[in-house]
Amino acid sequence: MASDRRAHAGAPCPIGRAIDVLGERWTLLILRNATLGMTRFEDFRSDLGIADNILSLRLTRLVDLGLFTRVPYRDGGRTRNEYRLTAAGADMLPVLHALADWGHEHTRPDEPAERMRIVHRTCEHATTPGGHCDHCGQPVRREEEAWIRPWRSPEPTPLAAPVV
Ligand SMILES: [Zn+2]
Repeated sequence: MASDRRAHAGAPCPIGRAIDVLGERWTLLILRNATLGMTRFEDFRSDLGIADNILSLRLTRLVDLGLFTRVPYRDGGRTRNEYRLTAAGADMLPVLHALADWGHEHTRPDEPAERMRIVHRTCEHATTPGGHCDHCGQPVRREEEAWIRPWRSPEPTPLAAPVV
């Protein structure tokens, strides 16, 4: 319902305002995939199994709210848009880390699955996110972070850089 969708848009509580932006179904999954480098409509659609019209609405809203920016690219003879994270979109990273921690702690997969891991690419060791590397002690900057999602691939996926 459109009337309560923006119920907390200008509210004094920053949590309410953030949920107003992020709390719609699919939005956090779209942002997770974008954080892992996904940029194209077709890729979001096939990975998430989301209907075209809903995906289009979510992407447009994320552009309008400043988390994504459209970047044109050539696809055969056509010009299409990629959806790339802005600095505001990239600032979602600690939220995704927190969701991963909470999911590990309080939810269970249907089939046993090896844990998602955060890797410090500089030293190639696993670490807990959001501070200094557990292995080498250096700060883990975004551009040095990768995720291993073993149910998808044993290879680490570097995080996407935001468009500046
Ligand atoms: Zn390290």
